[in-house]
Amino acid sequence: MRSPVLNGDIATCTDTATSTSNVLINNRSVCTVITSAAVGAILGPGSPKVRVNNAVISVNGDSVAPHGDTVHGTATMVATSVKVFVP
Ligand SMILES: [Zn+2]
Repeated sequence: MRSPVLNGDIATCTDTATSTSNVLINNRSVCTVITSAAVGAILGPGSPKVRVNNAVISVNGDSVAPHGDTVHGTATMVATSVKVFVP
């Protein structure tokens, strides 16, 4: 089981995830693949068994689209939720 990525979670490149979904965990919007970003779009793969607003939910370790040099070219998401997990 993996933690879902939430609005405000930080990618390995230190950029912040942003989500506008209307599904909240701990009062923070849940991030989804492609539709949420940490500067670059969150590419996933996410958890294909869980959908939010008809998009695949993003989870810890998801890839972020390259959006710059060095660390911004290979970033992944670091989810911080410790109370909610998805398959
Ligand atoms: Zn970045």
